Formats: sequence, structure tokens, C-alpha cells
Amino acid sequence: MTGTIKTIGVIGAGQMGCGIAQVSATAGYDVILNDISLENAENGKAKVVEAMDRAAKAGKMDAGDASDAAARITPAGALDDLADCDLVIEAASEKEEVKRAIFAKLCPVLKPEAMLASNTSSISITRLASATDRPERFMGIHFMNPVPRMKLVELVRGIATEDVTFEASKAYAVSLGKTTTVSEDFPAFIVNRILLPMINEAIYTLYEGVGSVEAIDTAMKLGANHPMGPLELADFIGLDTCLSIMQVLHDGLSDSKYRPCPLLVKYVEAGWLGRKTGRGFYDYRGAEPVPTR
Ligand code: NAD
Repeated sequence: MTGTIKTIGVIGAGQMGCGIAQVSATAGYDVILNDISLENAENGKAKVVEAMDRAAKAGKMDAGDASDAAARITPAGALDDLADCDLVIEAASEKEEVKRAIFAKLCPVLKPEAMLASNTSSISITRLASATDRPERFMGIHFMNPVPRMKLVELVRGIATEDVTFEASKAYAVSLGKTTTVSEDFPAFIVNRILLPMINEAIYTLYEGVGSVEAIDTAMKLGANHPMGPLELADFIGLDTCLSIMQVLHDGLSDSKYRPCPLLVKYVEAGWLGRKTGRGFYDYRGAEPVPTR
């Protein structure tokens, strides 16, 4: 744990928020896990408990530590419940208007000295910070998916972020056992600036009939030594998140090379968002994933 941060608020109990809650509680922080309803937040906590139970059964975590960590997570249905937090990390859907609306409601509730961070994959930290009453205490703390397994945290400063905020965020990430890199505040930062155009190109490769889902994923796994194929990875990230990141790159850099593939748009419009909805480039509803094209 770090000296200044004891209680962490996490907004959004989806795949990332749950992961952030898990690693923070495991490192000894008290965590308030919020979502749009108490039921969602409770479901999020249940998923974290399940993940830690699995880790304990596999011998990757001490069972006592898992139950101590679970006891440190409090689900919350209202932003008012985050009033005592020292750091609040927003990990809600990758939509700027959603994040802005959260900050507008949250800021009046927070202690003046509380820090605020976004786990956004791509949206400008400077712009998000400007929608708060504390741009100097605002940071991009970008975790990777799945949070407990991935070693990197990308740190992104907004134009107004003060050194003390940056240093406290870095100390927090290091206290979780993560390695940090620093990225300038440009669309999609480092990891997704490089990763998402590759995923989008894989979807174009499918769209243009160059290869099937299986051929593309096998080609990149065995031909480029990637641990997951790009379409499998897109399903893992969430196709809505992938589309939002491509839109941020396209709008933010005004370069047509970032135009989202129409097939990605079609999957998102169908509600086939990948693993989290049971269907994307693969259908996950049976025992084994089956390509959907
Ligand atoms: P997700 O769809 O799994 O979860 C989003 C959660 O936010 C949902 O539970 C939703 O109910 C909740 N939410 C929406 N509006 C809310 C509100 N107003 N108040 C409280 N909760 C609200 O998405 P995710 O994959 O966890 O992504 C969350 C954030 O993390 C996004 O900004 C995304 O870009 C970023 N991110 C995602 C990945 C990834 O691989 N999926 C990796 C790094 C960062």
C-alpha cells in the first residue's frame, strides 16, 4: 500500500473494474466497487470472489489472503458511497459522454484532496480532466486485460496533472506489483495506438475474404508468435471497446488509415460484443468457441 492512498473507489464493475478491484484489495486497499445499480456492483464482487477462489484452488493465491481481500471489497450502487475514497478510478464503458456524466456527479461528493483517474483505453486525459473540478489531481491509469495477469500499467498525464499526482499514481501501480510505462496524452496512448490498428486490419482481412476467422488467428499465432489471434483478442477486449478506440484514433488523428472496419461496426450493432455477450468473431455459448464466419 502507499502512504497517501488507503481507500480506492472503482466505477464500473465490468471486466476491467472487477480486475482493478481484485488487485487493489489483494494489495491491502479497501475498495468501494460501484456500478449503475447495486445489483451490478454485487455481481461484480461475486465475479472477483469467484476468480480469487479459482486462484486459491489452483495454488496461485493463499485461501486466507483471498478471503481477506474479498472482505475489503464493498459493492456500492451510488456515487455518494465514494465520498471517503483517496483515489477513484473510473472504469465505465468507453464512451466520453458516460465518463463526463460520471465526473459531473462524482466531483461534488469527493474529498477536495482525493485523486481521480480514468482507465480509458484511448480518450484524452486532458479533455476528461477538464470535465472535473481537479485537473491537477487527474491521471490516466491504464490497466491491461486481464488485470490480475497483465504486468503493465500505462500512466498518462494530462496537461495539468501535478507531479505529486503522477508520483502517487505510480506508487499505487507499483504497490500492486505492476510495471509502469509513461505515455504522452495522444489518442490511444502507446499500447492501443499500436494494437488496435492491427486488430482492425485483421477484421478487414476477414471482411475482404483474404482469410477465415480460423486462418487469420492461426496465421498470427503461429506466423507472428502472438499468444492469441487478433480476432480472439478483439473478442476478449470487447468489440464495442475496440470500435470506440478506433473511432477515437480516427477522429483524434484525422487520418483515414484508422477508419473502423464496417464489419466491426456490424458486429457491435448486432450486440455481438465478444466474450462478454457470448458471441463475437467466435460463438462462446457451447463447450468450445466456434467461429461465427
Ligand atoms: P465492460 O463493458 O466490461 O464494463 C463497463 C461497466 O461500466 C459495466 O459494468 C457498466 O454497467 C458500467 N457502467 C456504465 N455506465 C456506468 C455509470 N454511469 N456508472 C457506473 N458504471 C457504469 O467494459 P470494460 O472492458 O471493463 O472497460 C471499461 C473501461 O476500461 C473502458 O474505458 C475501456 O476502454 C477500458 N479498458 C478496457 C480494456 C479491455 O481490454 N476490455 C483494457 C484496458 C482498458
